[in-house]
Amino acid sequence: MNDDQLLRYSRHILLPELGIEGQEKLLAAHALVIGAGGLGSPAALYLASAGVGRITLADGDTVDLTNLQRQILHATAAVGRPKSVSGRDTLARLNPEVRVEPVEQRLEGARLDALVAAADVVLDCSDNFATRHAVNRACVARRRPLVSGAGVRFDGQISVYDLRSVDSPCYACLFPEDAEPEEMRCAVMGVFAPLTGIIGTMQAAEALKLLAGLGESLCGRLLLLDALRMEWRSIRLKKDPACRVCGGAARI
Ligand SMILES: [Zn+2]
Repeated sequence: MNDDQLLRYSRHILLPELGIEGQEKLLAAHALVIGAGGLGSPAALYLASAGVGRITLADGDTVDLTNLQRQILHATAAVGRPKSVSGRDTLARLNPEVRVEPVEQRLEGARLDALVAAADVVLDCSDNFATRHAVNRACVARRRPLVSGAGVRFDGQISVYDLRSVDSPCYACLFPEDAEPEEMRCAVMGVFAPLTGIIGTMQAAEALKLLAGLGESLCGRLLLLDALRMEWRSIRLKKDPACRVCGGAARI
């Protein structure tokens, strides 16, 4: 690290659990952030400010006026621009040392698989079940830790699925692919602006912990937030031996 980096990251380096060694791990790390909206905005901002060396930011949408209430990567002048590119520009202003690669598409198939394989940690900040399940499959296949968040109305949830550990559940153990739950879209249901900030920020915290090797991750626990009462519930998660996504993989 050069002198500027020692200053920029000094408040991390002061943490005995993190230190120079942990910060160097962050500088050498690559995070894939899927979705540059309400969750992806705070998540990517903290990953960049904290010095994660490389961030791939994927989103197929353009910035809409209705996004600005909570999607804090994007300012009013970005309306109409691709979210991944607007996000890249904001992150570059925050920390020019971080290499941010915008991907202007909704990830699926071989491209998703390749980007997951190239990342050290994956943050699912998407807003639909098709993407969530595709991301989970790729993370299970490639054994990449997945930090999964969601938020709508005043309700948020977050967990970590880390198939590097054999007894970790995957997203589909909890939400089976054939269950077809009702999509809870912000466009229809509404969303409290700071809710996505709280959950997205926690996704960044879990990702930074995984990358720097700190503490214990949320793997095996699902946190549920009721922001109207500001109450959290913690639920223990178990691997589903019959899970169609990770059940077979676990026997390898
Ligand atoms: Zn599973």
